[in-house]
Amino acid sequence: MSPYNVGLLIVSDTAFQDNSQDRSTSKIEEFFNNLEQNPGYKIIKKDIVPDSIEQIQLKLKQWTENDDLKLILTSGGTGFSDKDITPEAVKPLLEKEASGIIHTMLSYSLKITPFAMMSRPVAGIKNKSLIITIPGSPKGAVENIEGIIGVLGHALKQIGNDSSRSLHKVENPEITKIPDTPKTESHSHGHGHHHHHHGHSGHSGHGVKRHIISNDLNKPITQRARSSPYPMIEVSEALELINKHTPKSEIIIKQINDPSITGYILAEDIYADINVPNFEASIVDGYAVINTDGPGIYKVVQVSHASPSLPNFLKPGEIARVTTGAPIPQGANAVIMVEETELVSTKNNGEEEDEIKILAKGVEVGDNVRKSGSDISKGELVLRKGTIISPVGGEIGVLASIGKTSVKVYQKPIIGVLSTGDELVDLSANCPNFQLKHGQIFDTNRPLLLQTLQNWGFEVVDLGIANDSSQATEDKLHKAFKNLNVDYIVTTGGVSMGELDLLKPTIEQKLGGIIHFGRVAMKPGKPTTFATIDKPEIYNGKRKIMFALPGNPASASVTAHLFLLPSLRKFSGYINIKSSESLPTLSEIDVYLTKDTKLDPRPEYQRAFIHQQGDRLVADTTGFQRSSRVGSIAGANALLVLPSSKEVSSGVLTKGTKVKAIIITTL
Ligand code: AMP
Ligand code: MG
Repeated sequence: MSPYNVGLLIVSDTAFQDNSQDRSTSKIEEFFNNLEQNPGYKIIKKDIVPDSIEQIQLKLKQWTENDDLKLILTSGGTGFSDKDITPEAVKPLLEKEASGIIHTMLSYSLKITPFAMMSRPVAGIKNKSLIITIPGSPKGAVENIEGIIGVLGHALKQIGNDSSRSLHKVENPEITKIPDTPKTESHSHGHGHHHHHHGHSGHSGHGVKRHIISNDLNKPITQRARSSPYPMIEVSEALELINKHTPKSEIIIKQINDPSITGYILAEDIYADINVPNFEASIVDGYAVINTDGPGIYKVVQVSHASPSLPNFLKPGEIARVTTGAPIPQGANAVIMVEETELVSTKNNGEEEDEIKILAKGVEVGDNVRKSGSDISKGELVLRKGTIISPVGGEIGVLASIGKTSVKVYQKPIIGVLSTGDELVDLSANCPNFQLKHGQIFDTNRPLLLQTLQNWGFEVVDLGIANDSSQATEDKLHKAFKNLNVDYIVTTGGVSMGELDLLKPTIEQKLGGIIHFGRVAMKPGKPTTFATIDKPEIYNGKRKIMFALPGNPASASVTAHLFLLPSLRKFSGYINIKSSESLPTLSEIDVYLTKDTKLDPRPEYQRAFIHQQGDRLVADTTGFQRSSRVGSIAGANALLVLPSSKEVSSGVLTKGTKVKAIIITTL
């Protein structure tokens, strides 16, 4: 559980009426998300109320009584105008006031703008929650939090009884670093270009200077940190961060007859310009009739084939022969199947039908007639933005049927794949019978990941192997981003705690990237690292994305499926059908364990083969699950999602227990 649950209440008449007017929530969320060494602040409640004392108080009472919120921030209504009543609403609720916080906040903001004088904040405790009123402007709001965040953790710790809360361990410093001096307007404008390049879901770092926390590359091994400075986050939080920082790709046009269109995702809603069919068509081979004419013998006055033709007209007492898909004449309102007719007489030396006996009784209007627009009607939404052009072909079929020759789709990413490590031997560069020297291994991850990514329909660039030098790694990464135009680089190795684990420092200190997470509570895959590099001036105006995956092959493969693929899917325009705002992760299904399974303290992703047994899907794990054992991924079609042993009192899931499984290939 997150130690500091935060509630954020926006107080504003305008935002209450139209929540798109609220820009503060996103700014404040961004601030917390980008806090480096965030000791666990998490906004779990958000709401908007109008400038009304009653409504503010009502909401704050609910939140302080029912929700486990450590900190409640209200934003808005702290000024001097008549409408500004937030302090008046909050003050009577407070059990203890916290004037020190107000003092700190004001003195910080006063360094930025003398207008801070115009704010009338209050702060204090109600039912173990600390409530602070901050101004309404996004900028002012963030500055005020920035002013107090450094010591806020200490304050929160002292409120109420904290012993039961799972505070982070010693390696996560309690004091969050903040810039010594507040940033000025002109300072933040320096980052303005970040807002211009296309497609970014939000740019990080605004207002808070990021401190580099990787090991200093220039210092000797004796001075490295002995435990990772990166906070250990949950898988769900990692997915949220990936979602937040993965941009959508640019939009391109693809021809529908281009076979490579498979796997692209529509970037536009497609509406039909025509009716399908765009005439009244017969569903069967038979005779177009007027239903009230009834059974009897009729002259065949016309023949209509499925071919372009001028509209014809049928009078009562006449019938027309029609083939499947042929237009039926005007005046006719039903078609009788040929099976329900008899030939009576012929003409043209017996080559053409003259009279036909209709046997069918009770024919109704519309029988066997496909009405104009009854398959697709003009103006109808036929394919939604976010739809994948699947290999099944149905989407292409729909597009073809309405005469669309090209569509807008999201460009797919190009992914560079790099292995790191002095011990690695490049198979492709060596003869088949290469003899490994002591300490050498064959590079396994690169061929494995290249295969995975290509089969998912992505273009890859093989970046080879970087040896364990920061310079070599930096050069490879930089060149790939700049010259090979890759959008993503996935590396393996070099993210553990050894002196040669250079990825994190290289990303932060050499490439100027931002590491959004560097440790995840999971097995395998703990050191998985996700970073973005925003250097549009160097990298063709684009954000570059990095996944530095662990070196052990099973870890690399598991984390590629769990984290990298969903990010690539989002980049490519894929939408999570269950919740459009979430990351499009791989599908999960329920399966049953075929044996007792001992749980690890970390949530574990075991490689398994799922198959049907009786009326259930069951999961056989693929043997010994150590992360170095690449064989555990061979033959797997799913990853079993096993909970932490902390969540199950016995620490064991017995045979027959239902668990979730993430599908990694077709079953
Ligand atoms: P590292 O994080 O670089 O210390 O790597 C962790 C483990 O994964 C070590 O045993 C490495 O030898 C192994 N490893 C790293 N990269 C690869 C690779 N490309 N193929 C196979 N094993 C690897
Ligand atoms: Mg290594």
